[in-house]
Amino acid sequence: MHRYFIKMPVFVKRLFPRYVWEGPGEGNVVYLTFDDGPHPEVTPWVLDQLRVFDAQATFFCIGNNVVRHPSVMDRISAEGHGIGNHTYDHVNGWKTEPDAYLANVRKAASVIDSALFRPPYGRIRKAQARGIAEAMGQPGARIVLWDVLSADFDATYSPQQCADNVLRHTVAGSIIVFHDSVKAWPNLSGALPLVLRGLQERGFRFGALAGV
Ligand SMILES: [Zn+2]
Repeated sequence: MHRYFIKMPVFVKRLFPRYVWEGPGEGNVVYLTFDDGPHPEVTPWVLDQLRVFDAQATFFCIGNNVVRHPSVMDRISAEGHGIGNHTYDHVNGWKTEPDAYLANVRKAASVIDSALFRPPYGRIRKAQARGIAEAMGQPGARIVLWDVLSADFDATYSPQQCADNVLRHTVAGSIIVFHDSVKAWPNLSGALPLVLRGLQERGFRFGALAGV
């Protein structure tokens, strides 16, 4: 049994109405997101795939990885994708005091220019959420969660199952989670092309969350 939802239930979204769970669905747009990069091999592969399908996406980056792989970061920006803050060290909000958590977000904001924040593991406490905009230096900062998980991080799933997770649950406006990480690579590498092709065949377009 998996300890997370593939499709985010409506009751969870309603419990936290200030968080972003979906993007604008007009024009049949869906929003692919990639967490935990940039990575020097996985991220360029993702960018190549997106280019094949003329797809835009949003990358929630770890500050520490941005510093180590600046040229990959530059390519993400140059190709018009959205960028978000995913903390500097991938800290878990439930296990970190608010001051330390926000200091980590602030450190990431020094190398990631974005008004979008996604908490690692989707775990953030109220006292942390309240301080995000100030820590990021972005008065209009938004906390972005998701509608659909591919579960590419979960080795008990096959690549086909990860693709099916997305293809079964995506609707216009869905925010979909993948990971441009070594851990997710065995599933990501098989699932992403299936998802891009499958959603495109159903008439969806792929947008970046930059303007949300
Ligand atoms: Zn993450």
